[in-house]
Order: sequence, then structure tokens, then C-alpha cells
Amino acid sequence: EKKISVPLKQRVRVVVRVRPQLETEDQVWVHVADKKTLHTLNHRNTKETLQYEFEDVYDPDTSQATVYNECVQPLLVKALNGQNASVFAYGPTGAGKTHTILGTAQDPGVIPRCVRGLFSAIEEETCKSDAADWKFKVSFSYLEIYQEKVYDLLKPGCTVLPIREDKHHQIFVTGLAEQSISDIKEFTKYFAPASKNRTTAATKLNERSSRSHSILLLKVIRTQNVSPFKTLSGKLYIIDLAGSEDNRRTGNQGIRLKESGCINSSLLALGQVVDALNKGHACIPYRSSKLTRLLQDSLGGSAHTCMIVNLAPEERHYFDTYTTLHFARKTKKV
Ligand code: ADP
Ligand code: MG
Repeated sequence: EKKISVPLKQRVRVVVRVRPQLETEDQVWVHVADKKTLHTLNHRNTKETLQYEFEDVYDPDTSQATVYNECVQPLLVKALNGQNASVFAYGPTGAGKTHTILGTAQDPGVIPRCVRGLFSAIEEETCKSDAADWKFKVSFSYLEIYQEKVYDLLKPGCTVLPIREDKHHQIFVTGLAEQSISDIKEFTKYFAPASKNRTTAATKLNERSSRSHSILLLKVIRTQNVSPFKTLSGKLYIIDLAGSEDNRRTGNQGIRLKESGCINSSLLALGQVVDALNKGHACIPYRSSKLTRLLQDSLGGSAHTCMIVNLAPEERHYFDTYTTLHFARKTKKV
């Protein structure tokens, strides 16, 4: 196979985070060997170990702060400077995606850290003597893709929203609410109820949350107060993906089966896009799912992307871990 080298800045960074062992009655079978290497036992032959290498492997002791600082803060800087970026949490249900993206009040994840980081960076910029002529506007949207349909989480209802492209090749969702915010308090005021709605709905609707992609969009527009009145507009997508487990395996029927079909096709499409980007293909299949279409202007190319692959270490998750690692390994191979 011919090797093509893709410029580093165009590649999608794929990192792995292994959560701590929660199910203590089960044995751990995923081990972080060093900062780049992971070992698993081979399930068929437990004496054999399989080895996987990634750009970064985060062991169970890794703090939320480290994940944010190393994986997301650099992307936030891009958005502040008028570029697009995206970060994903990928992995099976129970592996730590929501913990990574949202976290808890005691141990906040990427979203609250990002919003805080954004406002402190803006404050720093506006305090600099030579940069005082920039004015910043921050807003956010919060949406969900469920069964290949886009829904607004800030305006809950059943309206399905269409994805469009403007003449500057920027992708947008028609009718999507956009809430302007000026500090973390204001963000929390609007975000917390929307995020809570989602979890409540989830228990009623058969864990819908593990079958849908939830997407936070942070938008930063900076404008110069003085000539030449330049405007820079950046976007950062923070995405808690649907569970990557194969629901067909667990014998789901009817609606569940249809749901898993959609999830699998859209995660599959994401994998193909990342794969094509990292192999330097000329043609990237963004249009093959709603998720990749929505992210077309913020995933690969001149955008900056990090995929955090979450793993559960216990043996009982071996099948999902195995398929997830193979997905991840494939996407990062250049
Ligand atoms: P997912 O969103 O992928 O389904 P969760 O984020 O809900 O998974 O994580 C499953 C469980 O594991 C939760 O109880 C969560 O609090 C816990 N957990 C996940 N990651 C960590 C971590 N890094 N440290 C401590 N607990 C974690
Ligand atoms: Mg979750």
C-alpha cells in the first residue's frame, strides 16, 4: 500500500482514555503500558496480549483537567482566533463519554472547562493594551441527532431541523436557537435545564441519550473596533457521541433495531471521514450522514479535530472494547 503523508495539522488526532475500574467483581483486562501504548488480553487466548498504539493514551488516573488541557484547550484557542474545531467522545455506553464531556459538579468535564477557559481567554485578550480594539461575542447552540434527524435541545419539541450550507461553505442548521452568553453563569442558566431535559427524556425513552449524538456548538465572533474593522468567526463543536456498541448483538427488535441501524451508519460515516482525512484522500464522504454533514466545516481540512476514544477496562466489556479499538486504530493509521 502506498503511504501518503498528510500534513499534521490536517489530521484528526485520536487519543484513548481508559476509565477507572467500577465493576470490582470483574477482572481488568485493558492495561495502559505507557503514554502511547495499550495492552489487552486476547479473549480467545488469555495468555496472549494485544498491543495498540495511539498518539496519546490516558490511564485511569488521568484528571479531567489534563484531558481538557491537552486535548481541548488547543482547539479552543483556534476557535478564538476565527477557526473551526471539533472534539468527540467516542466509545461504548458506560465507557466514560459523558463523564469526559460533561463531568459532574465535583469533577467538571470538557464543556464547563471550555466555557470558563473561553471567557478567561477573552478577558485576558481585552486587557492586553495592544489588543483592546477587539470586541467579542459568544453564543452557543445545543442540539441532538437522533435517528438521522436534527433536534434543538434549547427549544425542546419535535421539530426536525434541516442542515444547510451558505455561499462561504459554512454549514448551519435552519431555525436552531442560538443563545448569546457573556459569562459561565449565563451559560449554565441556559445549558443546565437543556442538559437535564435530555437525561430525563433518556430514562423514559429507553436510554435515548445513549443512542443519540449530543452536540454543543460554541461560537466566537471577534470584531475590531477600529479600522480595518476585521471580523473573525470561529466555531467549536463538543460532541458526546451515541454509544458505539453494536445493538444488533443484544437482540434488539423493532424501534431499537432501527435506532441502532441509524447510529451504526452515522458512526460508521464518521469513521470513514476520519479515515479518509488521515489517509489524505481527495474526496471526503461528508454527505453520507447527518453528523458528518453538520461537521463538514469543522472536521478535518483546515479545521482542528480531536477524537477521544473512551474505554471501560473490565473484561465483561471485551467485545465492545475490541471493536472500538479496531475502529480507532483504523482511523489513525496513516
Ligand atoms: P458513557 O457516557 O460513555 O455511557 P459515563 O460517562 O456515563 O459513560 O460513565 C459511566 C460511569 O463511569 C459513570 O458512573 C461515570 O461516573 C463513571 N466514570 C466514567 N469515567 C470516569 C472517570 N474518568 N473517573 C471516574 N468515574 C468515571
Ligand atoms: Mg453518556
